[in-house]
Amino acid sequence: MTTKARAILKEIFGFSDFRGQQDKIISHVVDGGHCLVLMPTGGGKSLCYQIPALMREGVAIVVSPLISLMENQVAALNELGVRATYLNSSLPAEDALRVEQAMLTGVYDLIYVAPERLLTQRFQTLLQRASLSLFAIDEAHCVSQWGHDFRPEYSQLSLLPRKFPEIPRIALTASADDKTRADIISCLGLQQAPTFISSFDRPNLYYRIVDGSNSRERLLDFIHQEHAGDSGIVYCRSRKKVEETAVWLTTQGITALPYHAGMDTATRSQHQKDFLYGENIVMVATTAFGLGIDKPDVRFVAHLDLPKSIESYYQETGRAGRDGLAADAWMTYGYGDIIKSRRLLDFNPTPAPIRQAALNRLDALLKLCESTACRRVHLLQYFGETPNYSVCGHCDICRESLPAQDVTISAQKVLSCIYRTGQCFGVEYLVDVLLGKLTTRIKQWNHDKISTFGIGQELDAAGWRAIFRHLLARGYLEVSDERNTLKLAQSAREILRNQHKILLRFQPERKLEKNKKANYPDHFSPPDQLLWETLRLWRQTVAKDHGVPAYVVFHDTTLLELIRLRPQSSQALQQVSGMGTTKFARYGESLLKILYRTGG
Ligand code: ADP
Ligand code: ZN
Repeated sequence: MTTKARAILKEIFGFSDFRGQQDKIISHVVDGGHCLVLMPTGGGKSLCYQIPALMREGVAIVVSPLISLMENQVAALNELGVRATYLNSSLPAEDALRVEQAMLTGVYDLIYVAPERLLTQRFQTLLQRASLSLFAIDEAHCVSQWGHDFRPEYSQLSLLPRKFPEIPRIALTASADDKTRADIISCLGLQQAPTFISSFDRPNLYYRIVDGSNSRERLLDFIHQEHAGDSGIVYCRSRKKVEETAVWLTTQGITALPYHAGMDTATRSQHQKDFLYGENIVMVATTAFGLGIDKPDVRFVAHLDLPKSIESYYQETGRAGRDGLAADAWMTYGYGDIIKSRRLLDFNPTPAPIRQAALNRLDALLKLCESTACRRVHLLQYFGETPNYSVCGHCDICRESLPAQDVTISAQKVLSCIYRTGQCFGVEYLVDVLLGKLTTRIKQWNHDKISTFGIGQELDAAGWRAIFRHLLARGYLEVSDERNTLKLAQSAREILRNQHKILLRFQPERKLEKNKKANYPDHFSPPDQLLWETLRLWRQTVAKDHGVPAYVVFHDTTLLELIRLRPQSSQALQQVSGMGTTKFARYGESLLKILYRTGG
C-alpha cells in the first residue's frame, strides 16, 4: 500500500516524502478506516484524504465550509491533473446537474460540496446511488458550538454515520481543544476511530509581540523593513479601524485593501480575489477574513488589536506561512487595548458564566503577551504539549535578548500614586503626576503637593505606560468607569507588601534589528535574484492565462528549489519538490528554457 501511496505522492504531487503522520493516516483510510486528524494549519491535511481518494474505488465527497476554499482546492487539484470538481450555490443549475450526473458515472475522483448541499434530499439520493470512496469533513471544528466557527449545517452531518456507516469518514481540523474534539467525535460517530494528533508547533513562524505605543508607525516599520512587496494580513477589531488603517497604509506606499463584513459583497469578494491572486497585497481585515483562505504565501499576520483568546491568536497567526517558508506573527498592544477588550466584555449582555469564561480566555492571552519566557513554549504548553526545550530560538523573547527587569519599585510607585489621587484618574494623568508635570489639571487638583508627584524620574512616559499595561494585564489594576479611571484590585496589596516581584521587558521605541529570514529573497545573490524575478514573472503570466492564483501554478517553495538546484535536464527537473508529472508535462520545457537562459 505504502509503495503505491508514495508513487502517487511523487508522480502527482511531486513530493518525495510524507510529512509527520501522513502515511499512517493514508494507510488507515485506504484500508477503510474512519479517523480524526488534528494537524496545525500548513501541516498537510489535504493529502491525507486526497491520496486515499485516488487509491480507493469510487468518488470522494469532501465537505468544505466555504465556496472560495473549495474553488481554490479544486483549481489546485486540476493543475495537478486530478479529476476534481465542486458543487455549491455559485454553480448555475445546468452545471450542477452535469456534475451530479458525472458523479454517478465515475468521472471524478473528488467532489467538494457545501454542507447545506450535502444535506438536501436530492443529494442524499444521489449519494445512495453513487459509488463512494470516502467522506472527508474539512474544518471539522465547525460542528461544535464551542468552536469559534460553529455552523449549524455541519452539526447535521451526524447523518453520515447513520446513513453511510461503511464509508470511511475522515474529519480534519486545526482546532484542538478538548470540548471541540469531543463534539466532532460524537457528531461524526468516531468513537471507535483513532485520532491522529500532530504537534501544533509552527516552526517557521516567528512570534513577536511588541509594545503598543506608536502602533501604526511600528507596523509601518515592520512592513517596510521586513516585508516590502510581500502578501500579508493586518487584523483590526473594528470596521472603522480597518478602513482607516488601509487608507493610511496606502498613503504610505503600501498596496493595502480593506475587508470587513460591512462592505458590499461585490467589493469584498473582489478584494479577496485580488489578495489571493496577487503576490504583494496587504489585506487589512476584521477576523471575519481568514477562514477558508489557504493562500500558502502569506508572509506575515499582524494584529493591531488583541485577539479574543490564545486559540484565536493561534488560528489567526496560523494563516501565515502555510508553505513552510519563513513567516512572521506580529502583534502590537498597549494599555488602551486591555481596557477596551475588558470593557467590551463588561458590557456584553451575555450571562455571567459565559462572560467570565471570555474574561478568562482574555487573561490567558494577556499572560502570553506579558510573558518573559519563550512564546512558543508558552503556546505549546497551553495546547497541552510539553516541548523538550525552554528556549525555541525563534521568537522575540528568545532572540531579541531584552532582559526582564525587576520593576517592583516602579510598580509600587504607580499603585501608591493611584491611591493618593483618590482612584479616580486615567493612565495619562497619572503618568504626568509621576513625571512631575505641572499641568493645569494637576494644579487644579493640588496633586503637585502629594508625595508621589514627580517621584517617577527613572522612566519616561513610554516606560510608565508599559508598567500600567503590565499591571492591567496581570489584573493588579481595574478600570472603574467609562472615563477609564483606574483603581487598585485586591491583589495589588501583594505588590505593595513586596510579596510579588514585577518583571518586565522594556522595548526600544522603534525596532531596529531586522528579523533574519532564512532562504528568502533578501539573501539572494544577484544571479539568483534575477532568476527569482524571472520565474515569478513567468508564473504570473501562466497564472493569468489559466485564471488561477500564482501559487496554484507553483509554490514559492518550488521556485526556491529551482534556484537552489538549477536543474538543466528533464530528469533533474523532475526531482524538484512540487514537480508532479502533469506540471512537468505542462511547464517543463518553459522552465528548462528559463533556467538555460539565466545560466547554470
Ligand atoms: P493544511 O490543510 O493542513 O493547512 P495543506 O494540506 O494545505 O495544509 O498543506 C500545506 C502545504 O504543505 C501545501 O503547500 C502542501 O502542498 C504542502 N505539503 C503537504 N504535504 C507535503 C509533503 N509530504 N511534502 C511536501 N509538501 C507537502
Ligand atoms: Zn522562543
